[in-house]
Amino acid sequence: MKPTSSRAARRLAQRGGKSAPLSVANLIGLVAKAKVKGVDKALETRGKRILTSYLETAQSYAMPVKDVVAEMASGQTAWRLGSAVRAEILKTPPDAVRKAACAQGCAFCCILSGGEGGVITGFEAAQLHAAVSPLTGQADGRDWHPEACPALDPATRSCRAYDARPMLCRSFLSTNADACERNAAGGAEQGAGLLGSHLDYLVVHALCRQTLKGITQVHTYSMAATAASAVAGDNIENGLARARHKPSALETACKDGSKAAHS
Ligand code: SF4
Ligand code: SF4
Repeated sequence: MKPTSSRAARRLAQRGGKSAPLSVANLIGLVAKAKVKGVDKALETRGKRILTSYLETAQSYAMPVKDVVAEMASGQTAWRLGSAVRAEILKTPPDAVRKAACAQGCAFCCILSGGEGGVITGFEAAQLHAAVSPLTGQADGRDWHPEACPALDPATRSCRAYDARPMLCRSFLSTNADACERNAAGGAEQGAGLLGSHLDYLVVHALCRQTLKGITQVHTYSMAATAASAVAGDNIENGLARARHKPSALETACKDGSKAAHS
């Protein structure tokens, strides 16, 4: 990880104690003390268990602490752990997956009308930006619907960044495409939702942010703004700077996800 300032570099070196350098064991201790706003204790405890197990594995492989910190800060950790939980769920697909109406060309869920434009990590934003950048100058999803993701092909309504699509896109599904269409137009119909693994991914990323407080910053980004900056031809630095969320976006996503899980 590249510390953001000389002060951050000193913190990274000293966080483990007055003279001892930071270690993965220190990070495990910090995870135990971390708190995530807006989610219940059970979700927080589950997130801590998953993240601690990742850190223990990193420790057993003697992974350098700077690499562990870099993965946690970029969101690669949340991605890895969320993907592992998702794969586990899909081994025995629940009804919501088996009866999903999702199909290529059905893209009402790619209409990103929420203010945050879809919450994604820096790791995902970098991959999405790289996948969409070659499409600069072409018609994009907004030629189909003004609030659609720019990564969408407006003619076929298929994702042009499929392999780089963020966890949010991999987690959303519905048993009723008509309800999705009405929801995209402002409705509030049942039938659509996120796989449970998405909440684990969000809580893990929020725990990474709390754990690394004072060491380095952990951001989230708008998926819509990331894709828009890429098709506009912005380079990755400028694009991500424009797409960066305020810290409250992750808190709100955790809170909303937790509320939806209990409704
Ligand atoms: S979530 Fe809804 S809009 Fe998206 S592919 Fe599935 S059915 Fe279609
Ligand atoms: S990245 Fe692809 S799947 Fe996700 S919202 Fe954009 S077009 Fe849809």
